[in-house]
Amino acid sequence: MKRILNYINGSLVGHSEKNIPVYDPSKGEIISNVINSNKDDFEQCINSSLKSQIEWSNVTPLKRSRIMSNYKNIIEKNMQELAEIVSIEHGKTIDDAKGSITRGLEVVEFACGIPHLLKGEFSQNVGTNIDSWSVRHPLGVCSGITPFNFPAMVPMWMYPISIACGNSFILKPSEKDPSCGIRLAELFSEAGLPDGVFNVINGDKDIVRMILDNQNIDSVSFVGSTPVAKYIYETAAKNLKRVQSLGGAKNHLVVMPDANINQAVDAIIGAAYGSAGERCMAVSVAVAVGDIADELVNKIHLSSQKLKVAPWTNNDSDMGPVISKEHKEKIEDYIAMGVEEGADLVFDGRNYKIQGYENGYFVGPTLFDNVKDDMTIYKEEIFGPVLSVVRVKDYESALELINNHAFGNGTSVYTSDGEVAR
Ligand code: NAD
Repeated sequence: MKRILNYINGSLVGHSEKNIPVYDPSKGEIISNVINSNKDDFEQCINSSLKSQIEWSNVTPLKRSRIMSNYKNIIEKNMQELAEIVSIEHGKTIDDAKGSITRGLEVVEFACGIPHLLKGEFSQNVGTNIDSWSVRHPLGVCSGITPFNFPAMVPMWMYPISIACGNSFILKPSEKDPSCGIRLAELFSEAGLPDGVFNVINGDKDIVRMILDNQNIDSVSFVGSTPVAKYIYETAAKNLKRVQSLGGAKNHLVVMPDANINQAVDAIIGAAYGSAGERCMAVSVAVAVGDIADELVNKIHLSSQKLKVAPWTNNDSDMGPVISKEHKEKIEDYIAMGVEEGADLVFDGRNYKIQGYENGYFVGPTLFDNVKDDMTIYKEEIFGPVLSVVRVKDYESALELINNHAFGNGTSVYTSDGEVAR
């Protein structure tokens, strides 16, 4: 069986004998193993990152920008292969995978402008006969710890800018879909990046702890679930690292009585069920304002019935499976809890079976109506294809509802009133 290693100093390497299984979520079968790295792997990684960073920081921003520009072209050329790597381990459709890589590429494109972005500032006579200027220096070794749901895009939020600024970067991808990180690093080498500037180390929470505790790592970027985000933030900050830590979400889409309902329903279907709801920007709550609620629920129900739930290898698939057996069970438990707490289950995606893929982690689109703000399915992030409709009387009540929620990432408003309220 294939074993996924680390990418350190331009080579695929690994000391640890321990493995973590990687699954095909469409079939529920182990398809490869990924190394669960140990201290020796980490030492090799940090030594390579420290050494390469010194030389890399002396490469002119213009040369760094040229390598970045080559990288953009190489990713575009390899888009199909990268998307398949994402889909095999994550389960999302090829179109979804390509869309996410394209979003990541936007950051690579932005990083191509680094010679201009790195300019400093000069202020004259800030005090009598005193001028002041600022110069941007690289930090040193930066790191990123990323979630399973966007194995290309989320790492690409982090390392292109970091590397363009003259830092070296250590990526610790999700152990659930680790292959994409490795391939992205190989392609960067192909684009001309010197060995060791971008290293990928695989493993679980032990490697994360080594990153957080290592005095030679200057910054940590994290994206993932809220409890881990808090732990990363606290531990990295205590160790005096620069840290950005993004956690879970709950996103509302408000439908006003004057909205074009069909347009709103199209948006809701894509945003609630696309990528099986495993997006931090997924719309998990539709807020129906005034008397449009019945029509809205009926139309969402009709459209969700038409969605094709299938493995990514099926060209008409609208949504694939969720990431793991445990996650499928967790989502199904939330659905049961919604019913227990009194929400109306309009469309039930539990026990979803596809012929030939009976062991796959599929959950069908699920729709709840008359959800209240004290229900668990409203308060917590489900991270699956489960949409809650909350009915409110007016726009002010919709705003109050959303502002009182503990989480947020984005809110959309559907209205035909040109002045979208803020
Ligand atoms: P996760 O928190 O389980 O894992 C994220 C990373 O942290 C992985 O690399 C994992 O190996 C590591 N990790 C897991 N448990 C750990 C522990 N106890 N100690 C140290 N490291 C640990 O998240 P996930 O399930 O992979 O991703 C889904 C979550 O990510 C959702 O909550 C989603 O909302 C969130 N997310 C947020 C954004 C955003 O922009 N805010 C974007 C994408 C995903």
